[in-house]
Amino acid sequence: MPNYADILKEIEEEIQPLFSQGKVADYIPALSTVNAEDFAMSIQLLYGKSYHIGNTQHKFSIQSISKVFTFTLALKAYGKELYKRVNHEPSGNPFNSLVQLEYENGIPRNPFINAGAIVTTDALTSIYKENTFHTILEFIHTLTNDSSIQYDETIFCSEYQHGYRNMALINMIKSYKNIHNEIDDVMQTYFKQCSVMMNTQQLAQSMLFLANHGTNPKANEALITPSQAKRINALMLTCGHYDASGDFAYKVGLPGKSGVGGGIVAVVPQKMAICVYSPKLNSQGNSLIGTKALELFTTKTNLSIF
Ligand code: GLU
Repeated sequence: MPNYADILKEIEEEIQPLFSQGKVADYIPALSTVNAEDFAMSIQLLYGKSYHIGNTQHKFSIQSISKVFTFTLALKAYGKELYKRVNHEPSGNPFNSLVQLEYENGIPRNPFINAGAIVTTDALTSIYKENTFHTILEFIHTLTNDSSIQYDETIFCSEYQHGYRNMALINMIKSYKNIHNEIDDVMQTYFKQCSVMMNTQQLAQSMLFLANHGTNPKANEALITPSQAKRINALMLTCGHYDASGDFAYKVGLPGKSGVGGGIVAVVPQKMAICVYSPKLNSQGNSLIGTKALELFTTKTNLSIF
């Protein structure tokens, strides 16, 4: 087995020259107040050990990583029916793009761009009504075995007040009759799920079921079917980094999902889940250092899926 503790130390050293690059997200004002120099990385093996480096206790806003949780819940509830409302192809467009939606009659390309995640949250709202956010949070608590995880009210309000593009997206989708609930109810849940605060240890833990054919290894409980786990991993690989998904697959070679809060989760099937945090982003809205750290990790360990 590779010496993961040493590999994490090497990665931390090798990323140092990159700290001058990238830019913290500021279109959600409350996100711009984070410490731009922060770095943390956690590896959680399927059974047993975990390895950590950096500020791994620091909780940050999970943002689009939440889309993995909501897509999992929606796929579990609706199965293939969900694909009538949200597709499973890469978009090749930025995370908050409006253009494709009009050409494609309000059916978002995939559940990991904002449009698709909003439809997914709407689908959950049809089932769980006013308890939708509570259901999402409880799912996160189950995955992490940690009920202290909550959302951040300041980040939620900040995004709610500045969510012009997301409001445009949901209005456009609703005009195509692909939103079934009240716009405000869906957006409140969407912004709350994005502002859930977790650290790298908790996030790595939360993704283990995807490394384990859909079964939560702690409780040995099947959360979704192996086939559904395969589909979620496939979508993370092809769509998890918006218009940089190809680049991430090319450099890192693992299913992964990023968030504009600076986190990236990645899955090594049958082996482990990883989370890295560094809030400065590249031009496609993905953590710049996080992407590099994961590239170094798969290069040093040969643990890419390819
Ligand atoms: N809450 C963010 C938004 O909707 C999510 C985007 C992301 O993390 O990539 O703009």
